[in-house]
Amino acid sequence: MDNKEFEKLKNMYSQLIELVSTAKESDIMDEKLDCFFKMFQIVRACLEFSPYTHFYTQILIDIIVKTYNTKTFRTDLLFKSQIGVLIEDSKYYPDEFYRDLEEDEYTPEILLIKWNEEIEKVSTKKHNEYMKFFETIKDLLIENLIEKKTDLKERLELISKYSNNSLVRNLSVPEKLFLYETKRVFDLHYFNTKPAHALFLDTKFKIKYICDTELSREERKLDVDKIVDIIKEKNIVAEEVYELENAEEQIFFELFKVIQNNFVINKCENCGRLFIPATTNNNPYQKARNDQKYCNNLYLDTGKTCKEIGATNKHKEKVEDSPILKEFNKEYKKIYARHYKQPKAFSEKNFKQWSKKAIELRGSYNDSQIEEFKMELRKLNEIYCKK
Ligand SMILES: [Zn+2]
Repeated sequence: MDNKEFEKLKNMYSQLIELVSTAKESDIMDEKLDCFFKMFQIVRACLEFSPYTHFYTQILIDIIVKTYNTKTFRTDLLFKSQIGVLIEDSKYYPDEFYRDLEEDEYTPEILLIKWNEEIEKVSTKKHNEYMKFFETIKDLLIENLIEKKTDLKERLELISKYSNNSLVRNLSVPEKLFLYETKRVFDLHYFNTKPAHALFLDTKFKIKYICDTELSREERKLDVDKIVDIIKEKNIVAEEVYELENAEEQIFFELFKVIQNNFVINKCENCGRLFIPATTNNNPYQKARNDQKYCNNLYLDTGKTCKEIGATNKHKEKVEDSPILKEFNKEYKKIYARHYKQPKAFSEKNFKQWSKKAIELRGSYNDSQIEEFKMELRKLNEIYCKK
């Protein structure tokens, strides 16, 4: 994802600022609620843009709502969510009182209450001041998100160096984690402990189980075997989910999953993007093609995927490297042109016979026998291409 893509996110964040501030400044309940639901739609669109937006979107909304409610620029919330940004303007420095105040949990219910909390009428001057502040926060957040994405990419690149090495692939997960820590994929140095000790002891991934299906009261009274039938039939499971507290943890989590699943990561030789070769992850019967050099993304505006471009380039290179293939192609074009110009004198049948023989010759000589190959081609021309 290049930085131009982030313009989309910037637009969505501007819409969020607009919606949340409209809701806060309005005293019409219907309007407030309408904004509230529109906000959730945009939050979802942001998540589709990138799952990494989660923490950033949440913090942006929180800052807007609480800035209105407390009449204070709430930059303390940035630090409370461990988003390390540099605030240049001193009037936005975190307020001492709020810095030490513990925040409520962030749930839709609490958000709705804060959303509807009544505030004093906001003057135009104040409104403009707030807007400027929210735009500043928006830029800081997106800048930080771009930084984190780059950081993740660099770490994945480190993994990609070793992920296809069979020695590494056969290590256990803990061994691999240690190896990758040594290779600075995690780089937890700032804990000021030996890397191996800090590794994952400090992470706070909380595992939870969630279900989005509920059985009816009648169904719940059924015997176990009947319930099992329903479970199988409807494909119901409790899913294991992980609770992550900030973007940093999300990055480590993602790296951890890549290593745990033994994914190979390759770097596309055409566009430079990192990708997981298609067959390493899902189809156990298909031999894994870990050596895939090109990704499956469309390349610029060529309308072709990197894989297609790669195949064409590879063919060209092969021809460039081989005197026999070069000579064959040159000759083939010449003979074809001759047939094309004089289809009567040099018939299609003759041309086909010539090309069949020429292809046979091409297969039976190697590059060190180029002179012999040329001689044989000349003989062939004398037989089939007489005018
Ligand atoms: Zn590519």
